[in-house]
Amino acid sequence: MKKINMPDRENTQYERCALCKRQTDVPADLEIGRRCFYIEGAGQLCPACYRELYQ
Ligand SMILES: [Zn+2]
Repeated sequence: MKKINMPDRENTQYERCALCKRQTDVPADLEIGRRCFYIEGAGQLCPACYRELYQ
């Protein structure tokens, strides 16, 4: 049986927020188009910083 290559949560790198540098729950290898709170030109934001900027 072939083992399916599942992302291992232990080894997954997560993006850090471009503003506050806190780790987000966005995997670093997630496509840009599927990310939440990603700002083109700025990078990945956390939900809190995103709200600050766009509320
Ligand atoms: Zn932030």
